[in-house]
Amino acid sequence: MQEAADAVRKIYAELEERSVERDCLLRSECCQFRLTGKIPHLTTGEALVAAHAFKATGRKSLPQRENGACPLIHPQTSRCLIYASRPFGCRTHFCAAAGGPRARRDVADLIRRLEAVGESLGASEARPITPAIRGFL
Ligand code: SF4
Repeated sequence: MQEAADAVRKIYAELEERSVERDCLLRSECCQFRLTGKIPHLTTGEALVAAHAFKATGRKSLPQRENGACPLIHPQTSRCLIYASRPFGCRTHFCAAAGGPRARRDVADLIRRLEAVGESLGASEARPITPAIRGFL
């Protein structure tokens, strides 16, 4: 498990090192799933890393957001509770104000590596963020 989590964090670090003319503006628009109609899907290794980060905040269970927002967004500050460990999709799907999503071709190799880590944990399918993380809480 630790090896898989380390591999995911290494992939996230490599993504950060790739230059791109856009950056997250912390608007949290992409965290409003009901508004965007899009929900991040996590490979199993990503879910493991996100669950570790969530538990490190002292919380034990993911809340249900009545407004359809991500359960990992702080309801008062609108900040991601696990920003440093946020999933790959949250690192590549920039809102329009931040420049729009990264091209998949630019990060396809990293996605394949995340999938491989997931396979090493026995699951190749990416799952929606809430059930994916709940599996490790
Ligand atoms: S994990 Fe964090 S960055 Fe990603 S959608 Fe949820 S609150 Fe937003």
